[in-house]
Amino acid sequence: MKRVFNFSAGPSMLPLEVLKKAGAEITDANGTGQSVMEMSHRSKDYKPIIEKTETLLRELMNIPANYRVLFLQGGASLQFAMIPLNLAGVENGAPHKKAIYVDTGVWADKAIKEAAKYVDVDVVASSRNKGYVVIPDAPPPPQGAALYHITLNNTIVGTKWDKLPETGNVPLVADASSCILSEPLDVAKFGAIYAGAQKNLGPAGTTVVIIREDLVGNAPSWTPTMLRYDIHAKEGSMYNTPPCYSIYIIGLVLEWVKEQGGVETIAKRNREKAGLLYDYLDNSKTFLSPIEKASRSLMNIPFVYRSVSEDKKPDLEKRFVQEAAKEGLVNLAGHRLVGGMRASIYNAMPIEGVQALIDFMERFEKEIKDN
Ligand SMILES: *Cc1c(COP(=O)(O)O)cnc(C)c1O
Repeated sequence: MKRVFNFSAGPSMLPLEVLKKAGAEITDANGTGQSVMEMSHRSKDYKPIIEKTETLLRELMNIPANYRVLFLQGGASLQFAMIPLNLAGVENGAPHKKAIYVDTGVWADKAIKEAAKYVDVDVVASSRNKGYVVIPDAPPPPQGAALYHITLNNTIVGTKWDKLPETGNVPLVADASSCILSEPLDVAKFGAIYAGAQKNLGPAGTTVVIIREDLVGNAPSWTPTMLRYDIHAKEGSMYNTPPCYSIYIIGLVLEWVKEQGGVETIAKRNREKAGLLYDYLDNSKTFLSPIEKASRSLMNIPFVYRSVSEDKKPDLEKRFVQEAAKEGLVNLAGHRLVGGMRASIYNAMPIEGVQALIDFMERFEKEIKDN
């Protein structure tokens, strides 16, 4: 069996144990004589699968009882619309409510632009003029704002919020797509947390939304049915057919997280993995991390050449990515918007993968110095 170390930002690596279990059950899950893919979402065979997935997520993230857990579709990108519509949307003609946003990169900016179509958006802080290499100081929201949105981990630039903003009574909402389950999170500090599954939770197709009960049911009457949290909450994420198979795999991933020792253990391992790579970059004569130390992501680690002329850069970046791929270290190109290189090291990336990358980078440094 050939397996590579996949450094893709998403969809990304899944634990091998999970893939093997799914493989073993592909034609007959739990002695039902059916694949999970073939099951009716309303059948007695499927019900325990979605219930187990929710129970495990609640347990691993310590989700308080007054929060709902929803398994939706449309990716994190649809939450860019659902959050403002449900939390800050108003009946036609009524005065707008303020939705507060912090701009920390491409995904934050997309969330802002989408929200601005429906509600009154106020961007209270941005690190755009610093190339997003730092999380900006975030001021408290004005009284009466409907929500305060942050992007907890910025997948493309490689930053993360270390200290959450103080938002008082204003619900803090976080896009946690690329960091959910990477470290413990105090869910009670948030009004809502959402995450596309394809980075740390499972395959693409499911978006997990964790939302405080009092924030469900405030959508204006004109909100499209499929975009209303109250409908999905009332129907147990089964208003229509949910992404059944993706939810099943998320359940297997959550079982794996639990077997590893839970989120604390995973976080310790993530800090170790990221620490190895940042230490290497900070001491390298060839590469560097452009991100300010206090804002560095544990999940997405971009790096660039330290002192290469602009004209040589594209070729050298390409060569790095290609030679790494030959050694089974794949998807190391930076996001098309920012260039450079990027290693995404989500929960399923073993420490051996990070060490193999560092070993390769050491050899590559020598090689380009020698010729
Ligand atoms: C990947 C990503 C998204 C987009 O997710 P989709 O599920 O493709 O819509 C949004 N926000 C963040 C932080 C991401 O990493």
